[in-house]
Amino acid sequence: MKYYNTLSDYWKKIFNTRVQKIPLDAGFDCPNRDGTLSRNGCIFCNPSGSGTGLYAGGMGLKEQYLYLRDKYLARHKNLVFAAYLQSYSNTYGPKSQLELTLQQLEFLPGVEVLCVGTRPDCLDREKISILAEFPAREIWLELGLQSCSRDTLKLINRGHTPLDFEYACGLAREQGLKVCAHIIAGLPGENLQIFLNTIDFVNRLPVQGIKLHNLYVCKNTPLARWWMQGHYTPLGREEYVQWAVAALTSLRPDIVIHRITGDPAVNELLAPAWSKNKSATINDIQETMHIKNLSQGMNFNTIDP
Ligand code: SF4
Repeated sequence: MKYYNTLSDYWKKIFNTRVQKIPLDAGFDCPNRDGTLSRNGCIFCNPSGSGTGLYAGGMGLKEQYLYLRDKYLARHKNLVFAAYLQSYSNTYGPKSQLELTLQQLEFLPGVEVLCVGTRPDCLDREKISILAEFPAREIWLELGLQSCSRDTLKLINRGHTPLDFEYACGLAREQGLKVCAHIIAGLPGENLQIFLNTIDFVNRLPVQGIKLHNLYVCKNTPLARWWMQGHYTPLGREEYVQWAVAALTSLRPDIVIHRITGDPAVNELLAPAWSKNKSATINDIQETMHIKNLSQGMNFNTIDP
């Protein structure tokens, strides 16, 4: 029984085989870290945790891709790949940097999908056109939203607004790019209703995918200080499961779930400890949906996106 649309099932239907994501570090920066918007970053962002550091270590994109591709192929035959520009904001900076980055990925063996992680305020029509020309069967923008509340975005020092996200989604739709919205549950000052308002906001936009996880506290972040001073308490596991299930049942039925829980680096994580056990959380979400006979979108009220 499937309780929600998983990315693996979605890709399997299209490519008739398993699609493996390959995370890549192209050496981009972030305007929320380099001083353009701020030097502090989002309150949960650990500077070392947001990038793999492979690019800074001298490993080019092609080498990164081929190295990881060989590792995956040693374990599974018949894979195709999604090249995933994951670290920091991969459309930040001049358009020539984006063009040079994509040129390195063109025609690498097995690349069927391109995924590009970025901020909604680092996109314009020209950059979207550059991305749209990449020779892949699917192109996904992995766009950070986190919350639709202006107050929350300010509190967590995101440096962009919900309108920036809405605008970027519109640009992506013009050029046929797919959007995966990144959302966090348990942000400071948010309750379940505010979190569900963000789900509703996403439902109304041309968004085709979602990544959801609980807010966890990593070392060397502003959030770590809040947590140590008792100003922030992460969601408990049962609470997160309840919020995730509420999100899934409220979500538009066609949206593909790219992630339903976080995957923090164990050596960076301060709290909550339960976040380390990703599969237990996924099991709890699925079991809750099974016991209560729930499925994605069953509480969604039809609206024109
Ligand atoms: S936008 Fe991403 S990379 Fe930039 S500070 Fe926030 S979490 Fe870190």
